[in-house]
Amino acid sequence: MIRAIFLLLFVGSTVSIQGQSIIDTVYTLKGRMIIYANKTWEFVEVSEFDGILNKSLDKLISKDPTLNYKQSWDNNVCFTSERKNDLGKLKDTLWLCVNDDENKDFHIPFNGIVSSRYGLRKGRNHNGIDIALNVGDTVKAAWSGKVRYAKFNEGGFGNLVIIRHYNGLESFYAHLSKHLCVPNQDVVAGEPIGLGGNTGHSFGAHLHFEIRFYDEPMNPEAVIDFEKMLCKDQNLLIHKGLFKSSTTPTNYNESAITVKKTTTKAVPVRPVYKYHKVKPGDTLTSIATKNHTTISKICQLNGIKQSSSIQIGRSLRVK
Ligand SMILES: [Zn+2]
Repeated sequence: MIRAIFLLLFVGSTVSIQGQSIIDTVYTLKGRMIIYANKTWEFVEVSEFDGILNKSLDKLISKDPTLNYKQSWDNNVCFTSERKNDLGKLKDTLWLCVNDDENKDFHIPFNGIVSSRYGLRKGRNHNGIDIALNVGDTVKAAWSGKVRYAKFNEGGFGNLVIIRHYNGLESFYAHLSKHLCVPNQDVVAGEPIGLGGNTGHSFGAHLHFEIRFYDEPMNPEAVIDFEKMLCKDQNLLIHKGLFKSSTTPTNYNESAITVKKTTTKAVPVRPVYKYHKVKPGDTLTSIATKNHTTISKICQLNGIKQSSSIQIGRSLRVK
């Protein structure tokens, strides 16, 4: 009875979020899909899904009373542990299987040039890696899993997708121009989940990609080789040194950069980006002329239309 009431409340709250009444329910292989009067739709969990996709990992972690790490399932917040999981307290090393030998359950989210790495940036930690793309490029799920979050995020991520994976990790895909998935949807590695964009706190189209373990970010390059577009290893060793909250900070970032710098491949580590801050009197024509480019190129780089009005003070990517 209690469960029935809970489910009713859950569905009820979803309706009130949309402000729409349900006009149809469709049972699909990916779960129960409800369709609202305004033609929007989403998947709704009908089972008692507790957010645990990796049962053996959860057993291991919840077995330790000193850790008591929790990871609930919530479609409306980025972080489900309320930031209480201090992974700096992790005593033992945990083994996660992030892939099989043939990298079948992995797909690079976007095949582009890494434009900014994980680590300290302007005094703050950059919690992910930036990959240059054009607005509208297809972004794909790194591993199989379940979409936990797919909506606009006011905190700076812009249009954001978060996927919880069977391997125990979560991946974040930020600044998208469009979502191609909905909360609670099951996805497989390589499935399109959004289109690249420049939404939220972003200056120029790019994908901000994060990998988190129980809400704590780690260097994506500790897991993925972005040049080879493969997982570095079948296993990922989770230890406290992987996380910035740790008492023994990782230097993965520096080592990753060193490795990249010594590569003989003639691909620039950081592409040449150029930005123009819009001043009073500026027009798209004057900005294009000044920067030796075209209006359509500027529109493409920033995901805007030629007819868009441009806000004074906004930084437009021109190259
Ligand atoms: Zn970023």
